[in-house]
Amino acid sequence: MNNQEFKTIREALQKASLQFGERGIQNPRLHAEVLLQHLFGWTKAKLLAEDREPFPVDKFDLFQSWIERRLSGEPLQYIVGVQEFYGRDFHVNRSVLIPRPETEILIEEVLKRREWWSTSARSPLIADIGTGSGAIAITLALEWPEAEICTVDLSPDAIRVAQDNARRLGADVRFLQGDLTEPLLQNHLRLDVLVSNPPYIPSKDIEALAIEVRGHEPHLALDGGEDGLEPYRRITEVLSRLMREEGPTLVGFEVGIQQAHDVAGMIERNWTGAQTEIIKDLQGIDRVVLGWKRS
Ligand code: GLN
Repeated sequence: MNNQEFKTIREALQKASLQFGERGIQNPRLHAEVLLQHLFGWTKAKLLAEDREPFPVDKFDLFQSWIERRLSGEPLQYIVGVQEFYGRDFHVNRSVLIPRPETEILIEEVLKRREWWSTSARSPLIADIGTGSGAIAITLALEWPEAEICTVDLSPDAIRVAQDNARRLGADVRFLQGDLTEPLLQNHLRLDVLVSNPPYIPSKDIEALAIEVRGHEPHLALDGGEDGLEPYRRITEVLSRLMREEGPTLVGFEVGIQQAHDVAGMIERNWTGAQTEIIKDLQGIDRVVLGWKRS
């Protein structure tokens, strides 16, 4: 595509949609609209109202580079730098997994049980292991203001993204750098609630993921070891040391396809007396595993 090919914003929209469609990208028109909205800092309404205006020559190269990045498989969210999660905009870059809508189920299930702590004198301590962009931790901090939130991530780059999101969204969250449960144990924290969406893709399955995921999202956030269950194994092995002895206590994991029963079993074996429940996502896939003790 060269500068001669579109004169107006509407033509730019049409060209870009066509190219995305030809490449087999789902919702090509929406992709083109989102890129143009970000290019101009406009709402969709303004974009559609102004689409007869000439396309600004000084924005051409940037728009062109964004189209090429998307055509080469880069997710839209990394190009525009943002993904909405639970009604808020989270900044993202290649150091963090793009928050997924399924993960909102984990949030909802935890928040449904908030009242378990309503008579408690102290604020419940929640930890989010493998926080990435901070989507889970920051959402819980904002939706459950009485709780204290602590997050762990191995990647200092991810922590920087999450810290920026926390600051921008006004969430009070503590950040610990380290491997899974290690920083929590080192700090002798005893949790009321543990949540995690750890890497859970079996190593051998990474190559079969879509180019958007395998070629651009951090493998550190995807690769769950040989069977994908390694992070759950390592977390549940220390659950009884990590969780407060006095209930109520709650553990919530997001899990991958066909992992829920294994993960529920790990919770039950390692955390004596815990009950478990499996919750499906909107596609009917077992997506969240909860474990809890009430007393
Ligand atoms: N939900 C992500 C995917 O399917 C994987 C996230 C994870 O490993 N925790 O690509």
